[in-house]
Amino acid sequence: MSNDTIAAIATAGGPIGIIRLSGARAAEAVDAVFQPASGGKLSEIPANYLTYGQIRLEEGAPLDCCFAVHMNAPRSSTGENMAELQCHGSPAVLLEIMNALYRLGVRQAEAGEFTKRAFLNGKLDLAAAEAVNDLIASRTAEAAQNAAAQLMGAVGSRIRQVRDELVEMVAHFHAVIDYPDEEIDPFLFENAQEVIHRAAAILYRLAESYERGRIMHEGVPCVILGKPNTGKSTLLNTLLGRDRAIVTEMPGTTRDIIEETVRLGPVLLRVSDTAGIRNTVDPVEKEGIDRALRTASSASIILAVFDSSEPLTDDDLMVMARATGRTSIAVVNKSDLPSAVDLEHITRYFQHVLPISAKTGEGIDRLTELIPHLLGLDTAAFDGEMITNARQAAALARAASRCEEALFGAQSGMTYDAVIMDAEGAIAALGEITGQNVTDDIVNKIFENFCVGK
Ligand code: GDP
Repeated sequence: MSNDTIAAIATAGGPIGIIRLSGARAAEAVDAVFQPASGGKLSEIPANYLTYGQIRLEEGAPLDCCFAVHMNAPRSSTGENMAELQCHGSPAVLLEIMNALYRLGVRQAEAGEFTKRAFLNGKLDLAAAEAVNDLIASRTAEAAQNAAAQLMGAVGSRIRQVRDELVEMVAHFHAVIDYPDEEIDPFLFENAQEVIHRAAAILYRLAESYERGRIMHEGVPCVILGKPNTGKSTLLNTLLGRDRAIVTEMPGTTRDIIEETVRLGPVLLRVSDTAGIRNTVDPVEKEGIDRALRTASSASIILAVFDSSEPLTDDDLMVMARATGRTSIAVVNKSDLPSAVDLEHITRYFQHVLPISAKTGEGIDRLTELIPHLLGLDTAAFDGEMITNARQAAALARAASRCEEALFGAQSGMTYDAVIMDAEGAIAALGEITGQNVTDDIVNKIFENFCVGK
């Protein structure tokens, strides 16, 4: 890689603006724009000391008073010399500083270039580098916890452990074949099978965590379904804790889909409030109902809302038909009113029936506890071993299936060669996750998705 010095504004607005530099000349470049209050130059002050001073461009008057720090290679996040300026966040000042740095031959960093340099300098494996983006985008503490563990190497170390065992097994095989005269322990198929079996079990477990990881990262699509006036919009508002959907006594008010994000403990729920389901001839309302049903068919969880103060109608039966066989909860609303609904009938269709009052909030706690439980996210371990990245998940699935093919080959009496070839395929796929064998194209593609300054 080129060893030029790069810089970027690392903050997105706000009272403090940080400029980061990485490369051999980082501290030297900062010397040209920053004057320590104690005199001298930043580059002469020991590394890692936050130093107070002024921004002074050429012979001009001070532009800002700020802190600066420099770090020496390899003890920095990129593994190169680095420097940082922590200014007051004026975009004009930050741009002036950047322009002065460009005049000194410092180059604007590309998206993700700091993290890419950290990867190329062996500071992070590829799985950890990818977690940087996840961490920035985390919308729940649990998602952040998982990404932070990945950033600290949780996925990488587990994968490396599996890969190392496979490599050792394959190397042993080749040693026995290539050096028949040496006194090497015989290669035993049983031992090889045991190694592959252990690897497959770990890889499948990790690959399967992707679905839950994706849900944690992107949110779970959840749809509120029910005939008009059962209190769907009121329920959405209660979940949100504010008025978002229009609540009226006139049936058919919500015609389009309203989507909102609600955080329920570790779960990010993308809740869609939909048009009330009923038989209608109004073409606009009909379109709204069709959309509601389409949304329901792709949702991970359906909240089917019924009005407990009225007997069930044909429209309620339509809702039931859509929700049965799916992950769903019958939300029997208006529990504050005298009950007139046939609860037993609802219980026949739903495994989970919850009486609530969206208006008073009664029963909402039980609902917000039940949802993460039904999605299997209430007891999930957020230890970084939950895969959230599609590229890693695909490579894991490939590695796991090559292991399975190897096992199948071994059990069905295939030659050693064929089995070892599958094991080598698994090793290659695992190397793609950590970056041990990955092409430049893939590396470039990954870092393109980063923000500038990271
Ligand atoms: P939607 O058509 O299903 O979205 O129903 P809305 O949320 O617009 O509510 C319809 C009517 O039912 C409104 O007058 C609400 O105030 C009322 N409502 C909603 N939830 C409750 C509840 O829990 N108890 C009572 N008593 N009324 C409710």
